[in-house]
Amino acid sequence: MGGRACLFAVFLLTASLAFDSNTPSRVILFVWDGAAQWVTSRILAEGKLPNLQRMIREGAWSDGMITSFPTKTAVAHAVFTTGVYGHTNGITGNSVLLAPASDHTRLEWESGFFSNPLRAEPIWVKTARAGLMTYTFHVPQSYPFQNSLDRLRPAEAVNLRMLYGYSGLRVTAEVITHQRAATVAARGWVVPEAEGSEARELSFRVGERVFWGLFFDDPFDLASGCDTLGIAKDKSDGEFVARIKPGDGESFSVPIATILQGEELWFSLRLFELDETGSRFLMYRTSGEAVYASSQAFPGIGEPGIEAFAANAGDVLYETGWLGKTLMEGGDGLAEKRLLETEAHLNEQIGAQVERVLSQGDYRLLIMYSPVTDELSHALVGYIDPGVTDFDASMAEKVWPTLVAAHQLQDDLLGKVMDHASRDGGHVMVVSDHGMAGTDRVLNVNLALAQAGLLAIHPDRSIDLPRTKALYLPLGDASVAVNTLDRKGGIVPLEEKQAVLARVREALERIRDPESSQRVVTAFFEPSTQGLLQPGGSGTGDLFLDLARGYYFSDRTDRDEVVSRTTPAGEHIFMPTRRDMHAICAAWGPRVRPGTQWSRVRAIDVAPTVLDVLGLPIPSELPGRSLLPEAPLVQ
Ligand SMILES: [Zn+2]
Repeated sequence: MGGRACLFAVFLLTASLAFDSNTPSRVILFVWDGAAQWVTSRILAEGKLPNLQRMIREGAWSDGMITSFPTKTAVAHAVFTTGVYGHTNGITGNSVLLAPASDHTRLEWESGFFSNPLRAEPIWVKTARAGLMTYTFHVPQSYPFQNSLDRLRPAEAVNLRMLYGYSGLRVTAEVITHQRAATVAARGWVVPEAEGSEARELSFRVGERVFWGLFFDDPFDLASGCDTLGIAKDKSDGEFVARIKPGDGESFSVPIATILQGEELWFSLRLFELDETGSRFLMYRTSGEAVYASSQAFPGIGEPGIEAFAANAGDVLYETGWLGKTLMEGGDGLAEKRLLETEAHLNEQIGAQVERVLSQGDYRLLIMYSPVTDELSHALVGYIDPGVTDFDASMAEKVWPTLVAAHQLQDDLLGKVMDHASRDGGHVMVVSDHGMAGTDRVLNVNLALAQAGLLAIHPDRSIDLPRTKALYLPLGDASVAVNTLDRKGGIVPLEEKQAVLARVREALERIRDPESSQRVVTAFFEPSTQGLLQPGGSGTGDLFLDLARGYYFSDRTDRDEVVSRTTPAGEHIFMPTRRDMHAICAAWGPRVRPGTQWSRVRAIDVAPTVLDVLGLPIPSELPGRSLLPEAPLVQ
């Protein structure tokens, strides 16, 4: 009896710990790139995302989040992490026009994923300054790190640890087959595995290194003939750096190091097919991206298990048929299964990096990112969204399970993160940066402007800027710019800008689909610093467009038709208030009342919410508000 009462007391103590005001508050912000609200809700309704489901049951969920206009990854992330819109934070597209305007034309731009054009303070700087240990994993605008570190004193900068693997220094993924790298009888190896008469070898280059592969018969493997691939840096090496087997139950190799431009980067191999003669095979090699850390104190830095990062998975190889015949081309699902393996491998790498930090236990804010949902949504939503011209319900049904599986990979990773958070009293927020719409027609905006006499094209079909009055910018920002004199290469006097804009509208309003004769450009927006859309800024254009369902933008000038058909795809750039562009937003943790249902929320509310949970002041210049009710008074 006494023992029982004691146990009960211990239980009470533990249960109240998470809500104790002395327990440091913590937040994990997990961004599922491209997870559309309409897609995610459907998968939730099928009961296939158990961890997100648990978050929603025990926490909060939204009817849809309005992120940014354009609904692009770089832009929405900058809104999440600075709490202000693009005209203030500087990130107005996946690319932005170079500054200063006097030195650069409207055809010169830089990446909006990098921190160089970022002009507002990211939330990780605020938390580090407040003395809270902060980690970021592959978050847009965190790299180059100097933009953030320069905002902190050295004593504050020790609280900020950033990891980044999208610098662009990479070896791109490829599929290696016997057609691309023929095998020959093995010769000159010193490993004992080469002694069997059936052993065959190949060589392949990755980055600046050549690798040797030996197909051999593993005596401990019941499969007859060649059943194993050993990888060596040199045939005279006494052992393999990696060893893999083909088939279903197998997995990716350990990380293998190569060199590119003086940097070490890591790749892995997956042997999808191998015949017993060792002469026919299909092998996937992951991308390998240089991973940088803002501090040598980043947990695990220097270790292959932490530095190995593919950055992106096999979506491009899938779409070009390298993983096998796709479902859309009559395949049996094998290519999709392979694609999902590459995506799972990427999320395992992210999981390893994040878990290493979580197990250290010192984080107060942790921001993590995974592109898996975006990659699969681009590849598949064009077949799932009934808004495309030739929507085929039976194909949609065939493709759907692969899209579900991509979300499940995110959900698995979420489950691991929630496990840690439930032990350390942490809050978890899951957000996405935009939705996804099926498209199968493209609007070549600049061709329409050329036909209206507003844009000139060189004989080589590039834009002739000195004779161009308006152009759709090559920035992925849904904007047309007037080529005014206030930027280098401009020809339009500022007082004529409105007249040119009127001509642009007139030209674009006129465009009709040649098949359906419906209007293609459905809405125009001028730069604004108010309302839900707020497009505009010095690095973007002067008129923003939205398109009818099924259409996407192109800035190409080497095409003949203003409107043309394309392969179905998932795309995002459109007005964030469009139902298909709505993002997801969920929150879970001690401060979140179970079963909370938010109606529409905004990306600008994410930073104030995180600051609120962490007990930090919300700066008055932030336009958003915390999504949570006021913190309970300390008992
Ligand atoms: Zn995307």
